[in-house]
Amino acid sequence: MKKTPWKIPFLDLSVKDDEEREAILAAVDRVLRHGRIVIGPEHDQLEARLAAHHQRAFAVGCGSGSQALFLAFRAAGIGPGDEVIVPALSYIATANAVALTGAQPVFCDIGDDLNMNPADLERCFSAKTKAVVPVHFTGKIAPMEAINAFAKERDLLVIEDASQAFGAKRGGISAGCFGDMACFSMNPMKVLAACGEAGFLLTDDETIRDRLIALRYNGTVNRETCVEPGPNGRLDTMQAAILMVRLDRFHLLAQRRREIAAYYHERLAPYVHVPRESEGCSDIFYTYTLQTERRDELNQFLAEKGIECKIQHPILMPHQPYYSKLNSAVPRADHVIKKVLCIPANEKLTDTQTEVVADTIVSFFNA
Ligand SMILES: *Cc1c(COP(=O)(O)O)cnc(C)c1O
Repeated sequence: MKKTPWKIPFLDLSVKDDEEREAILAAVDRVLRHGRIVIGPEHDQLEARLAAHHQRAFAVGCGSGSQALFLAFRAAGIGPGDEVIVPALSYIATANAVALTGAQPVFCDIGDDLNMNPADLERCFSAKTKAVVPVHFTGKIAPMEAINAFAKERDLLVIEDASQAFGAKRGGISAGCFGDMACFSMNPMKVLAACGEAGFLLTDDETIRDRLIALRYNGTVNRETCVEPGPNGRLDTMQAAILMVRLDRFHLLAQRRREIAAYYHERLAPYVHVPRESEGCSDIFYTYTLQTERRDELNQFLAEKGIECKIQHPILMPHQPYYSKLNSAVPRADHVIKKVLCIPANEKLTDTQTEVVADTIVSFFNA
């Protein structure tokens, strides 16, 4: 749509803060000097910190959020003949991780909060269902009380895809603390971000933890003995060192994102559906996703003004060529996906920039 650099880019992955850059360089330098590059001390320290942060027994580092999901399903014994319920709207990795185990994803419709709609779970359930995978989309936690109640009644596992929701809370409970297992991505786009691919899982079950550790390295135990096939899906020590620097500063990012969201709520609520927090929730605003019937026009208008927006994700997972053969009926998601637009809302934006974004949107609706 636009070739010249954006006046306001959606995301800027450069490190602007001198203090942060120096801390990252020092952390990388420490790894280079000690030389324990593969599952080095920073790797284990990060795992311990992530477990403590969530007050869960174990955190297991892995190569990406996609890997975390695949490893979780495999460690849970999910495979051919099984079904796993996922929401219609997510990054495609959620469904792919199910399919890669040989199991079948079943697509649940969404609510106005863009998350799995518990009212549609019964339709998705069958004798083959093994697990439910709520995705805390945009950094807003899914309605976990209803989802967990549904799963408990039918003896299903709950595996959270918390890739977008590190730091979000619902009823005082953190993302990653609702399910039997939780999967996180720490790729460079996420709020807690590495400078490359990275992910982790949470579990309280020691047997699952041990299986995850074997699975993430070709299914091996004691370095050489292979007990089942698995990928090479380990977390990089260099990334772990960088992530610890970012974890120390995470509260600042979270605070800034919430500040920007509050400002947008106030400015934009008269014109569009703004992503307000539900009662008792503290969202992390991985994206600030507004909804408007005039989405395409607005997107075009903002692009012309040099403001880069995103539609996440224009093709719902069940309508991707690979999954369309399942003929999933997700009418609510079909409707909502035409209205969503993610506007720039990351913590690096200045007040002047967020003001320009808001002013431009207001001027569009007032024209
Ligand atoms: C980012 C993301 C993933 C995949 O994570 P990667 O680290 O990029 O593999 C999976 N699910 C959701 C909801 C995501 O946002």
